Amino acid sequence: MKIRSLLLACCFCSQMLAAQQQVADPVVLVIHGGAGTIRPEQLSPAMRDSLQAALTQALRAGYAQLQAHHTAIDAVQAAIHVMENSPLFNAGKGAVYTSAGTHEMDAAIMDGATLKAGAVAAVSHIKNPIDAAIAVMRQSPHVLLVGKGAEDFAFAHGVQWAPADYFDTPERKRQWERYRQRTSKQAFVPVSSKDAYYDLHEWGTVGAVALDEQGHLAAGTSTGGIMGKLPGRVGDSPIIGAGTYANDTTCAVSCTGTGEYFMRSLAAKTLSDLIAYKHMPLQQAAQTVIFHIIQPMGGDGGLIALNKNGEFAMPFNTSGMYRGYITRSGKIFIAFFQDESK
Ligand code: ASP
Repeated sequence: MKIRSLLLACCFCSQMLAAQQQVADPVVLVIHGGAGTIRPEQLSPAMRDSLQAALTQALRAGYAQLQAHHTAIDAVQAAIHVMENSPLFNAGKGAVYTSAGTHEMDAAIMDGATLKAGAVAAVSHIKNPIDAAIAVMRQSPHVLLVGKGAEDFAFAHGVQWAPADYFDTPERKRQWERYRQRTSKQAFVPVSSKDAYYDLHEWGTVGAVALDEQGHLAAGTSTGGIMGKLPGRVGDSPIIGAGTYANDTTCAVSCTGTGEYFMRSLAAKTLSDLIAYKHMPLQQAAQTVIFHIIQPMGGDGGLIALNKNGEFAMPFNTSGMYRGYITRSGKIFIAFFQDESK
């Protein structure tokens, strides 16, 4: 009994210490590079190093914006740019293929200060889809533009074009070939066969949430979607309230995983609502969304969330989620799997 009390006291003290550390050195930027079923033994040391370097570069790019007194939106954009430009992630260069062998990308941004948001879906020629989402937010009266209309709008507003084959990478081509072998007997794996569909899921959607020195939050997400998705399929990432959401009074959120489940549960807005209306602490609200809403529905994935106090959460129910954060003083943390504590 005594030992149990002692353990509980220690646990309480370490939680208090963690809380104090967060207040003393708040987290200002959290990123993810996707959640999935990869196991530690499947990640080679070389791949691990490359991912570590790319995530570090993304954190540093976002942090540089914050250090230069720019906004949380600028920090999210800079961090996502690095990951979209890296072939390692399923966003921008390195996006997965649709069942027709094409790339269709989705992205969204939301400003927690104004609740303004912008998104694009099913775009195939925009080098950095997050830029197009920001252009929609800032320069149109709309929230979501899709396909050719989104591309025409983006190019008219100075967003960079890229040829369709820019997004190809040898690794994604190999994954696409595996996909085709597994699905050669049928035109498309039926969505009702959840396991078959999501078994083919590859990691790498990217997201970022940031807190600027004005105390404003922003969230952004960018993705190629799910390998082998039907042309025209749109996931949760560009749907405001599903895969992306930000509100200064609650938190900023970016999700990754089996998008259809995050859409049906409006995961990101639900997290915000649990804080706003149920007064749940951020960590508890984030865990509730993943383990008590998404998981019982049959969904897999994770999310990153950050509030204006610099408190954050990164829950996921898959074997791993590429993730990292940077504190106001510049301390970086990066992890891939479940057992790597924050
Ligand atoms: N949520 C994304 C989608 O369904 C995929 C992912 O996060 O890996 O499009």
